[in-house]
Amino acid sequence: MRAIYGNQQARARLERATLGNAVSHAWLLTGPSDIGKTTLALEFARLLQCTGRAPTDGDPCGECASCRKIAHGAHPDVALVEPEKGKRTLGIDIVREMIRMASLAPTEGRWRIFVIPDIERMAPAGMNALLKTLEEPAPQVILLLTSSEPETLLPTVLSRCQIVPMLPLSPDEVARALSERWQVSDTEARALAGLANGRLGWAVRAAEKPELREQRIHELEELAGLATASRDERLRRAGALGTDVESARRVLELWTLWWRDVVLAAGGASHLVTSGALRTQAERLGRALGVERAQAFLRALLDAQLALEANANPRLTMEVLALDLPPL
Ligand SMILES: [Zn+2]
Repeated sequence: MRAIYGNQQARARLERATLGNAVSHAWLLTGPSDIGKTTLALEFARLLQCTGRAPTDGDPCGECASCRKIAHGAHPDVALVEPEKGKRTLGIDIVREMIRMASLAPTEGRWRIFVIPDIERMAPAGMNALLKTLEEPAPQVILLLTSSEPETLLPTVLSRCQIVPMLPLSPDEVARALSERWQVSDTEARALAGLANGRLGWAVRAAEKPELREQRIHELEELAGLATASRDERLRRAGALGTDVESARRVLELWTLWWRDVVLAAGGASHLVTSGALRTQAERLGRALGVERAQAFLRALLDAQLALEANANPRLTMEVLALDLPPL
């Protein structure tokens, strides 16, 4: 599936699965948001339904009626199952309708495929109903689920799916995708890739909406400013950053992105700094701290991410970090 950028291993695994006749009935693509899980699931659906390719090729042809219909969201046997507009939860009615459809034979494809992004958004009643489909899938049904929080899913769901982990893309992969697929200029593509933290989805949106990029630079500047703020000010801001797990997780990720740059600059490698807009600040801070102290705080940031996943209190986690910032 060469049309997909990054995640070579995940792609190869799905491609291998289409060879022979033993495709699993349930797949779960896991990984952070905005790295292309749904895009890969839909490309896998194209590969499974494609009528134009040689059977040993890992690419959908892109030209047969089936490939074109899936690309336009118009294939009768490939459904993207999402919550109603404006809702966050996938309601039971949608799940029931999906299960009803799953009991019917495909109308024109080889399979009946349901792509369900962010399966954790499914209401518990829906999940229970879905489990039955997972237990006894009709022979022609394939479920392609995605999740950025697989640890919240029922063990019974996890045990019935082939789990395919996906990772954020490298800055090079994001930049290449932006310039090849979305015709973003090379300079702009590299700048966005440096701020995207491997999230191609975010980079594509930011290429269309400059305010997203401005907002991210602003957030990074705020985090950079913590290093020179007073103790009281750091505590105050840390409290505001850790109001809940989700925002703490997001802030920690950005903070780590920024602090990697500080470590690079401290080690004299500021040409590798990814958040180009903040290069001067990274250099100043890196020089003042030195490599060892900069690295020690990077470790503290990574530890805090692990602690948060292990249910540490988000506010406390952020406050401890803010106090642990090495003094200049
Ligand atoms: Zn095709």
